Amino acid sequence: MQSRGNSVPKAITLGLLLLVLLAGGAGAGEWAAVRRVADGDTVELTDGRLVRYLGIDAPEIDHAAGTAQPFGFEARARNRELVGTGRVRLEADVERFDAYGRTLAYVFLPDGSMVNEALIREGLAFCLAKTPNVKHEERLLRAQRQAMEARHGIWREWREKPGRFIGNRNSRRFHRPECPEAKRIRPANRVAFRTRWEAHWAGYSPSRECQPDFVIPGDPTPWPSPPPR
Ligand SMILES: [Zn+2]
Repeated sequence: MQSRGNSVPKAITLGLLLLVLLAGGAGAGEWAAVRRVADGDTVELTDGRLVRYLGIDAPEIDHAAGTAQPFGFEARARNRELVGTGRVRLEADVERFDAYGRTLAYVFLPDGSMVNEALIREGLAFCLAKTPNVKHEERLLRAQRQAMEARHGIWREWREKPGRFIGNRNSRRFHRPECPEAKRIRPANRVAFRTRWEAHWAGYSPSRECQPDFVIPGDPTPWPSPPPR
């Protein structure tokens, strides 16, 4: 009698628990599977969509030439290791797509860890804050500072001459002082850095226009064919 009286509420409780786990416990977002890994911040899903990881920038790979910036191949290999064999959960921010039609996402593994963050923590990518998609900016910057302090990956053999770099508080980009863009930054938004390291530590990323040594042709189209719209 007693056990029978309890079984219905128990079943309801279990059912509710299952719903909670499915809906919220495992995190919101969309589950997907990865078909190809282009580099440390771009993958192709089995349904053909290209996904560009939010909040990070990995060293570029020039797919046509078979060359890469330092740690470009390492970043791709690690990304493959992380997302290559199972399902991933995509979490969106404010903007769903970039200018090239790629899906913008934070990518989570079934164990709840964030791939974007893991790559930064291992020094295989750096923080790339891009408003309005800055939901996890602080979390990613914390991971980057850990990587910098521990000298992982790209931070390991970091060499630079002290100089002067101008950051923009709005865009979170830094420029060489002679860059025309740097000269256009309003005084209230200007912030000076003595080294690139210092700028990265503060969460700024290099402007592509005036940092040619950061750019390899081939990005943002990771494969010879144009990304699907
Ligand atoms: Zn510039």
